[in-house]
Amino acid sequence: MDATPKAAVLGAGTMGHGIAQLLAQSGFVTRVYDPVPAALEGGIAKARAGLKIAAAKGKISEETAREGETRISAATDIAAASAGADLVVEAGPEQLALKIEIFRELCRVAPEQAVLATNTSSLSVTELAAATPRPAQVVGMHFFNPPPAMKLVEIVRAEQTSPATLAAARAAATRMGKEIVEVRDSPGFASSRLGIALAMEAIRMVEEGVASPADIDRAMELGYAHPMGPLKLTDLVGLDVRLAIAEYLDRELGGHRFHPPQLLRRLVRAGKLGRKTGEGFYKYG
Ligand code: NAD
Repeated sequence: MDATPKAAVLGAGTMGHGIAQLLAQSGFVTRVYDPVPAALEGGIAKARAGLKIAAAKGKISEETAREGETRISAATDIAAASAGADLVVEAGPEQLALKIEIFRELCRVAPEQAVLATNTSSLSVTELAAATPRPAQVVGMHFFNPPPAMKLVEIVRAEQTSPATLAAARAAATRMGKEIVEVRDSPGFASSRLGIALAMEAIRMVEEGVASPADIDRAMELGYAHPMGPLKLTDLVGLDVRLAIAEYLDRELGGHRFHPPQLLRRLVRAGKLGRKTGEGFYKYG
């Protein structure tokens, strides 16, 4: 990667806009693509606003924020987003078929040496890599929500990921100031597997009337020093996103631990997806 590395972010939702902000403030010229025009526009605006907020809080300098703003731009398709990119981070919906479609197009148009990273929370990076003509360049870079603030990037090594791709992904995460946990590709990796098991059990406890969501969260926050209880965290991540991950882990790993409770399905069907829609296990003003 040269002195002014270039990156593309595919998907400008909850994670995509945060990853775009993080890349831009870390010096990457960053192009963002989302097929939904309102999501693209909103995502770019949030990434730019995020830079200003980070500067106001003293997390980055005013100059970094100003420069970061000039580094972010919107792209009309995957080819335009990935032109000249050293690193592409896919942050589209948690659906393997859709991610395969995105990666096939990406392999048609991205620079030969580009690192092709997915931000999937759970899906098989090996299966995704196998469906593309450039499997050695595919790797998981699992950021956490919100990406500029959370310290960790989980780097997921597919069976096919080359040592050069792994080294480049690690270097990019380090440039973004992140701590790295490297895992072999396995459903839910190290983080989502444990996080989802806890969240599904917490939702079952709400269903059974064991305690209110607020008290279940307080039990984990005050009793176990978790910074955020599992239901608040589910609202932050998105109930739809967590349901998709739970369904996948349930299919892949079996047993009762990941089976999505009916309450989660009902809330998702009702459009109560958490903070992004104003209501989940809590209401947001
Ligand atoms: P989201 O629903 O907020 O955003 C997804 C975006 O992808 C939407 O804006 C959508 O318009 C866009 N999109 C749809 N089709 C696309 C395509 N063909 N190409 C590019 N973009 C497309 O979802 P999210 O919460 O940002 O999650 C994105 C990914 O990140 C998922 O794989 C998810 O599992 C993972 N992830 C989410 C979190 C979290 O806390 N939400 C944390 C870590 C990882």
